[in-house]
Amino acid sequence: MVIEHLLKPIADVSDLVLEKLNALNLYSYWDILLHIPLRYEDLTEVSSIEASTIGSKSLVEGEVVSCEVIQKKKRQLRVILSDKTAYITLIFLHFYPNYLQQFQVGRRIQAYGEIKGGMLNDKTIFHPKIKSVTEALSLPKTFSPIYATTDGFKQYQIIKVINLAIDYLEQLENKYDKLEIIPESVLKQNKLNNISDAIKLLHRLTPEQFAKQEQKNALARLKFDEFLVQQLLLLNIYRNKHKEASEILKPRATYTKELFSLLPFQLTGAQQKSLGEIYADIAKPTQMNRLLQGDVGSGKTIVAAFSMLVAVENSFQAAIIAPTEILAEQHYLKISELLKPLKLNIIWLSGSMRAKDKREAYAKIESGVANFIIGTHAVFQKDVMFHKLALVVIDEQHRFGVEQRLKLQSKGNNPHQLMMSATPIPRSLAMSYYADLDISVIDELPPGRTPIETLLVGNNRKHEVLEFIRNNLAKNAQVYWVCPLIEESEKLDLESALNAYEELKLLLPEITIGLIHGKLKAGEKALIMDEFKQGKLQILVATTVIEVGVDVPNASIMVIEHSERIGLASLHQLRGRVGRGMKVSTCILLYQTPLTEIAKKRLKTIKENNDGFKIAHEDLLIRGPGEILGSRQSGLPVLKFANLETDMPILLQAKTAAKTMLRDYSKEAKLLVKLWFNRDEEFLKV
Ligand code: ADP
Ligand code: MG
Repeated sequence: MVIEHLLKPIADVSDLVLEKLNALNLYSYWDILLHIPLRYEDLTEVSSIEASTIGSKSLVEGEVVSCEVIQKKKRQLRVILSDKTAYITLIFLHFYPNYLQQFQVGRRIQAYGEIKGGMLNDKTIFHPKIKSVTEALSLPKTFSPIYATTDGFKQYQIIKVINLAIDYLEQLENKYDKLEIIPESVLKQNKLNNISDAIKLLHRLTPEQFAKQEQKNALARLKFDEFLVQQLLLLNIYRNKHKEASEILKPRATYTKELFSLLPFQLTGAQQKSLGEIYADIAKPTQMNRLLQGDVGSGKTIVAAFSMLVAVENSFQAAIIAPTEILAEQHYLKISELLKPLKLNIIWLSGSMRAKDKREAYAKIESGVANFIIGTHAVFQKDVMFHKLALVVIDEQHRFGVEQRLKLQSKGNNPHQLMMSATPIPRSLAMSYYADLDISVIDELPPGRTPIETLLVGNNRKHEVLEFIRNNLAKNAQVYWVCPLIEESEKLDLESALNAYEELKLLLPEITIGLIHGKLKAGEKALIMDEFKQGKLQILVATTVIEVGVDVPNASIMVIEHSERIGLASLHQLRGRVGRGMKVSTCILLYQTPLTEIAKKRLKTIKENNDGFKIAHEDLLIRGPGEILGSRQSGLPVLKFANLETDMPILLQAKTAAKTMLRDYSKEAKLLVKLWFNRDEEFLKV
């Protein structure tokens, strides 16, 4: 009852205020209650000017002894205040004529701000907050909260709305029941505050509470709820998935044995271990939901192929799906080559195929003639009917949303799912966002890889890069030249690649150069890739389409333009395209000067680290989880209060509590999801 009222859009405010609230993404009373202060100012106590400490923020009170406009480089207003213990100077670099009124000599005022040491051992405050002292002025009992706000929406206006929401909460709790949803036992076990108390405390923090650091406990309560809801959603997805049985698949002495005997190399220890984990999963009648993580080039494809073979040798179908056509094609070529001696029926399926070819593919998939299906999103389409699909591999799974994963759920015989990712996900992130997945990690590269040297080069030194390339091309090297997305526009993306292509042709007339981009037809792309692979092209200019999966061992130089605009994970992926052959490899990151501090940090991270997990961890610290996962796409609520890195202990508590609640308090669990996620229907559905 209370929840439903709190989730209603806020009423009783003017249209203008409503507009400002909405600009801050605040719609319901609940949203407003959760709009907790960014920080607090302590205006509860006046300090004497003498006792105020330089470097800290203080509230002082005194009489204006002088007020004058001084002409320095720019005009400034200087007000001197005395409280008998000492003098302090208030300095305003921007001011209006009416300020002079306010600071008439003899007036009593309060000033709040950071105390700075002046040149003559005196004290100053720049742009203090000012209040006139009148009979009616009394000091506040609580700290003054400072809220995040938007243009034209003042702190006192927000505070009014916050007070309105708190009053409303109190009214509701008096009239109906308490807001608290989490059972007493769970609260006790995790030493959690009551939710209403926590929220009120954060908005109205008293000096006594602050002295005991009680705001930390209150905030921990919000973090806990946030994690708990996330875990409830994920656990619920997981449970629903496991209700239906999946096929029991065990490796046999047929295709699996044959492929092992054909392999020109030994699987690495990490590959064997991951494959073992997959074998154990699919031998059970419950659905596998495993995430296979491994750095670029760690050899995930072969592990996927072995897993898929088990389905096929048990007379089922297996599919592998990749987010881009070029990557899916690479899988198609690689897997076809690898499995050629086994004489299996491998089917290619993509959106850009002609209708007739598609229909043929559909027919083969439906009749069961097709053993292996390799393709793009096209495989998810509802026209695709599988004969007996028992296992699906999803490559670069983070590019697909939860929704698409759920779509697959309805295909075939509740197929086992193997997700693959070359964007390593730090443990904390994986635990939080992929609570419904088990994880295998290939943390070892196949032997014989050459190290990659990474160079950061400002755009103004591009000529040196060209010289370097010219020298190496003479030694038979091949080069990728990558142009990133300039804006969220494929057209501009293409334009930048086209420009680079034309420029390189002009500057290096003796060199054969190819251009590949997303707008080309699949066949054209394959042709260009093939020419590059065979060494007919010396430089391949590309948009970021080559980000994933491309394998040309002889290519040993990669140049990336505007590297400052590309995410660390993508840069690492791109860089992984070189260092696959015998040659020492170089990755040159061109950047536009000047760099921002964050950009500097990020490029330094990529230069100094070759380990994808380390890079992902740094990226998480620099940018936060939303950017890495595209959490909007992942369909889960974004964490507002909790921090994955620093709040791990709370996450662990929430994980345990989520299990308890689903088992013993499913009604409360549902309510909690409704309150925090406001989408209970979905919770029930997925
Ligand atoms: P990724 O994990 O990036 O998808 P791939 O599966 O494309 O990596 O493998 C990269 C390259 O390493 C491929 O050419 C593959 O044939 C080769 N490879 C995979 N496993 C091994 C191994 N155990 N020993 C040697 N080479 C391997
Ligand atoms: Mg791959």
